[in-house]
Amino acid sequence: MFLIKKLINLIFPSLCSSCGRVLVSAENTICTKCRHNIPLTYQKILNKNDLHKVFYGRLKLKHGLTLMHYQKNGVSKNIIHNIKYKNKPKLGIMLAELLEEELQQINIDAVIPVPLHITRKIIRGYNQLDYFGGKIAKICNTKYDTSVLKRVRGNSTQTKKNRIDRQANVANLFELKNSANYVNKHLLLIDDVLTTGATLEACCNELYKIEGVEVSIITMASVK
Ligand SMILES: [Zn+2]
Repeated sequence: MFLIKKLINLIFPSLCSSCGRVLVSAENTICTKCRHNIPLTYQKILNKNDLHKVFYGRLKLKHGLTLMHYQKNGVSKNIIHNIKYKNKPKLGIMLAELLEEELQQINIDAVIPVPLHITRKIIRGYNQLDYFGGKIAKICNTKYDTSVLKRVRGNSTQTKKNRIDRQANVANLFELKNSANYVNKHLLLIDDVLTTGATLEACCNELYKIEGVEVSIITMASVK
């Protein structure tokens, strides 16, 4: 059995999901060099950190954390790109595992992903957040719930709207759906890359419609 596995590995070697190099047997998902080069923020979920700065004065978050700094060229960009467009479930799981120690500091009642628009999900076949969020939920011994937020159609056809209407439209990109179970609960909203935070803000504002809800945010990476 071991020999067969070795043979298969010789013909179809496992490749690093970040740089594409052939992995040696002790390596898993990504090579040792890439693993060492992951630009972790090393920030703590219980402290005020970079993510809080982005949302200061905009959202009242319970906790927040971003795992990696997003680099234009580098390991974090490769990882995110591969999760987003190459469907590499192991990478999402690996990132969640890197958060394990921080996740153990908090109590959450569900993990909620920023939803993809349904047509994009059909084309892509998956939401890039599913494995990351699923593993986070597993570590936190709770559920990954994709039914709470729904992305509704965008505003591309409404070009004549003024600035205020357009802003309102961004805010209405998401819709709160099955939220009855989350009154007075603590929800963890997750996304891949934090840039301006507009998307997460719009999602949060929907979640805040739930009575007594508390929201925390974790992102894989942040451009800041
Ligand atoms: Zn590598």
